[in-house]
Amino acid sequence: MADLSPSLSPATVAVAAGRPPHEPDQPLNVPISMASTFVAGGDREYGRYGNPTWSAFEDALGRLEGGRCLAYASGMAAVTTILDLVGHDATVVAPRHAYQGSIMSLADLEARGRIKAHLVDIEDTPAVVAACADAALVWLESPTNPALELADIETIAAAAHEAGAYVVVDNTFATPLLQQPIALGADIVVHSATKYLSGHSDVLLGAIVVAPDQAELYDVLLNRRSLTGSTPGTFETWLALRGMRTLHLRVERAQANAQALLPRLEKHPAVSEVRYPGFGAIVSIVVDGELAADLLVRTTTLWVHATSLGGVESTFERRRRWKTEAATIPEGLVRMSVGIEDVEDLWADLSTALDQVVAERPATGG
Ligand SMILES: *Cc1c(COP(=O)(O)O)cnc(C)c1O
Repeated sequence: MADLSPSLSPATVAVAAGRPPHEPDQPLNVPISMASTFVAGGDREYGRYGNPTWSAFEDALGRLEGGRCLAYASGMAAVTTILDLVGHDATVVAPRHAYQGSIMSLADLEARGRIKAHLVDIEDTPAVVAACADAALVWLESPTNPALELADIETIAAAAHEAGAYVVVDNTFATPLLQQPIALGADIVVHSATKYLSGHSDVLLGAIVVAPDQAELYDVLLNRRSLTGSTPGTFETWLALRGMRTLHLRVERAQANAQALLPRLEKHPAVSEVRYPGFGAIVSIVVDGELAADLLVRTTTLWVHATSLGGVESTFERRRRWKTEAATIPEGLVRMSVGIEDVEDLWADLSTALDQVVAERPATGG
């Protein structure tokens, strides 16, 4: 891999990291190495143990997060790998609102008697700090999905470490450009690279980044990835690295679009609540119940009704359409992943649909 100065800014790292050395006839981009085995005698040996294309992606994301990275088949492969680190009967503290797959995995492990899950309101820092006392693992997601609550990562990480617990932060929503959890005290960062890192809604990929002072943990994870075969696709890591070349531009533009939409959403009579954590491009709005939200998501022509987030295109969905979504999330909550289109086009489409929601509101007796 090309040598990079450690003082480069994240935008430069996103463009420059994970490239072959600057030597005559080296390609600028790492090739897609389709190989299940390698000539004996080196570090890789076999396709389940490593791949040069994975390494390029891991180098780039590791530098952005400030740790050592391992790529996985999906975000959930990374999530379940981390949950599997926890010893039998140990307690995992986690947000009551978080990515549904993570919550369901915790519930599944608990139902099988493997762990105890202690779900907390992540914004209630004193309660989270108190919960850390008997935890083996503190799982943070900040901002949370889809409530967009923020955790005080630094304070919680200090309390967790005092109790001897590992701290994990799912950094999918923020990306390393807007939040670097390892610098705030986290031991492990997890990503669904499916979302902003890849950014084009065409890849499933996950990643774990381990803090530099946790070398042993990195070795354990690398060994387990080889054993479980939760390995990434080679083409997927190549696409994700290609996507990461524009991560800073996409995040900046999507965030600017989101922030331009906020005051307009707040003023619209169809919208009773706007939730925004202060950064990023995910906004949750609340409209008047299930029917209004369903009408909204099927009336737009530009905004696409789809789950997932972090693509160049604007998507949104009513979260409670999923039976597994927390009952504390309002029926009329629509999570919006603001894309990088022209913001006036986005608002024209959205406001037309919101106007329709107001027009079709059932008359309330006066
Ligand atoms: C999507 C997502 C995941 C799971 O990632 P997959 O790539 O879909 O397996 C985990 N955490 C968060 C916050 C996500 O948005």
